[in-house]
Amino acid sequence: MHELSIANGIVEMCAECAGDARVIRVRLEIGRLSAVLPDAVRFCFDVCARNTVVEGAELEIVETQGLALCRDCNHEVPMAALVGRCTCGSANLRVIAGEELRIKDMELA
Ligand SMILES: [Zn+2]
Repeated sequence: MHELSIANGIVEMCAECAGDARVIRVRLEIGRLSAVLPDAVRFCFDVCARNTVVEGAELEIVETQGLALCRDCNHEVPMAALVGRCTCGSANLRVIAGEELRIKDMELA
């Protein structure tokens, strides 16, 4: 389950930024195309946060839509999966959004 290592990385990063402060809220951005399950991350986050300054912090997950740019006609194509097709029929797409996984911000006590 790679969500566990992801959650662990998030907790470590937050703890490092927080120093001695307590983290009360973390806002996380997860792209729809990142193949990361928000619910799994949420669960693992709570487990990983135990006994750290992140323990008890609220995890807010913002899911971002997948978006690609067609290399043939330059149109933006909404993507529900990594493989998609433009309305012009081209499958020559470049993903420009939806693969991200990042900490947007966090709130310290
Ligand atoms: Zn196109």
